[in-house]
Amino acid sequence: MKKTLIAVLASAATALTPAVAAHASTPHATVRAAADTVRTPATPSYTVNLTSNSSGSSWTGHESVSFTNASATPLTEVYLRLWDNYHGSCPQTPITVSNVTGGTAGSLEVSCTALKVTLPSPLSQGQSGSIGFDLSIAVPSGADRFGRDGSFNFIGNALPVLAIRDGAGWHLDPYTNNGESFYSLASDFKVTLDHPTSISVPATGTSVDTPGSSGRTITTATATKVRDFAWGAGPYSVISGTSPNGVKVNVYRVSSISASSAQSMLSTAKSAIDAHSGRFGAYPYGEVDVVLDNNFWFGGMEYPGFVLDLVSSTALAHELAHQWWYGIVGDDEYNDPWLDEAFADYSTDLYQGISGSGCWNSVSWASSAEKISNSMAYWDAHSSRYGTVVYTYGKCALHDLSRVLGTTAMANLLRSFAQSHWYGVSTTAEFKAAAQAATSTDLTSFWTQHRIDG
Ligand SMILES: [Zn+2]
Repeated sequence: MKKTLIAVLASAATALTPAVAAHASTPHATVRAAADTVRTPATPSYTVNLTSNSSGSSWTGHESVSFTNASATPLTEVYLRLWDNYHGSCPQTPITVSNVTGGTAGSLEVSCTALKVTLPSPLSQGQSGSIGFDLSIAVPSGADRFGRDGSFNFIGNALPVLAIRDGAGWHLDPYTNNGESFYSLASDFKVTLDHPTSISVPATGTSVDTPGSSGRTITTATATKVRDFAWGAGPYSVISGTSPNGVKVNVYRVSSISASSAQSMLSTAKSAIDAHSGRFGAYPYGEVDVVLDNNFWFGGMEYPGFVLDLVSSTALAHELAHQWWYGIVGDDEYNDPWLDEAFADYSTDLYQGISGSGCWNSVSWASSAEKISNSMAYWDAHSSRYGTVVYTYGKCALHDLSRVLGTTAMANLLRSFAQSHWYGVSTTAEFKAAAQAATSTDLTSFWTQHRIDG
């Protein structure tokens, strides 16, 4: 996500719910310490069939997911994350899961954003299982990452996805509206969307349309090695192009955005996706959809192969950088938000030729507890500082690291770090170790000065 100043102020004014505040005080030290252990359930593969109402604001159908236990510890249950239930008032929820097969559903947990499904028998290491369920999605009003602006729907985080278990247990962190809580393994998705032909459905992955019943179209979207699946639905206008390196870019816009703005954003998207590819490794998904609306309260929001954005070239370059930092190179967005946000902002500076010279001179800490590497639990309690510290100080720390290593070594570090975590999960400790390996300078005091723990 890219915060605007207005967005940071707006989110700071939004009081935390008691449930979220309670979770925000939960210590996460044990989770961090064991973050390098085996993550399971692995290789999720989702099959989803949904049918919309006439406006694309309501969807019903079925989802199933198969998975394998990668851990030596038996897998006795899985958890679905129903993230968008944050946008309801639990137990009244916009996401409804029912008729679970392949396991026994428990009660909704974590403010209705988690659902435990106990498997019929434990899966040992290497064994596979699958669950299925009926699914309904009701998009609420509001120009949001899950919301409806007039006749245009934005449907992010609506598909239930599997939570991750590692050596520290299940990651069942709460939703945060200040940033992201999302933490998932690279997965495959095959999603069919049955919708009126009069509306379009930009989506993660690559799509093929076939005729449905009278007046309807069935869009089949396929995506491999992605962490989530998002789509939009509405009477968007669309323009398309292909970057010099062969990535197809589709720019969708709501009716209040001009064709010339869309053309400008298409141009930015084509150049930014190739620039990021050149630095971190070629964009592997073939196609990206950009959905423009100037009513979003944030600058933009990233999903694999699908971004929401204001008409802002800086925000767009940032969201496209997330295709690597969060998407291809995963991280625990709740516990390590700097690993995707600071890296996306730093990548944007590189794209725009901004060197960050002298940027650390303006750093001023609000308290001894304030650190670039703090989790969203901290930032939900100090939301007015989130953008400044994680994005601005975070990217400046990376500029400073580049000045210590030298620009060539820094470029090689980011590229090799991306390659070694391609479709995997990165941690702060792994990044620090990789940086240390790239220089003969002892970085211990650098991490202390820049307040990057882990
Ligand atoms: Zn971001």
